[in-house]
Amino acid sequence: MGALEGIVRGVSMLALVKAGRAAPLAAALCLMLPAAVPAETQKAALGGSGDVYANIPERDEFGRDQRAMFRTWNPDPLGTHEANLRALNPWLARIVRKAAADNPDLRFVIGSGRRSSLLQQKAYRWGWSKTPYGAHLSGDAVDLWPLDGQGRILFDPAAQNRIAAAMRRAAGELGVALVWGGHFQSFKGRDRSHFELADE
Ligand SMILES: [Zn+2]
Repeated sequence: MGALEGIVRGVSMLALVKAGRAAPLAAALCLMLPAAVPAETQKAALGGSGDVYANIPERDEFGRDQRAMFRTWNPDPLGTHEANLRALNPWLARIVRKAAADNPDLRFVIGSGRRSSLLQQKAYRWGWSKTPYGAHLSGDAVDLWPLDGQGRILFDPAAQNRIAAAMRRAAGELGVALVWGGHFQSFKGRDRSHFELADE
């Protein structure tokens, strides 16, 4: 089963829309890749319509128009999910697929996977990443974004914790060591969206 199917079978998640929750958003990073499957098809399957970033508070803590930043950064996270998955380190992709397949009630998409160094530098300039380098460059890191019942991005920490638990279980069963950004202490407190393969 594909990860998308895992998402599609997902059911409701408690919507915890709180305007002004800027800190977790700043930790959310993404990637632009061409969609292999028509975006509208995937969006329709996910029940998504309208602005996928409608839940994102308009301004970040610096007063920047962060919805515009998200749109520039990743114009279509649902439509590019599969392409982003295929661009990852195959082991990381396997973990993401398994986490989705084993947890049909979890709804999430890849917000960011493999990055060009240009894109990584943009994240660094925007303050969305601590480093101009990092594991996204090699496809060894992925950011997973929770979706609400309407297929819109919703950075609900409880949902992010459930995604992290699913990823940890999937990685464990596949015998792959995985590091969760939710355990990072230095980046905006934490980076709950971020997962990366552990160094051997
Ligand atoms: Zn990341």
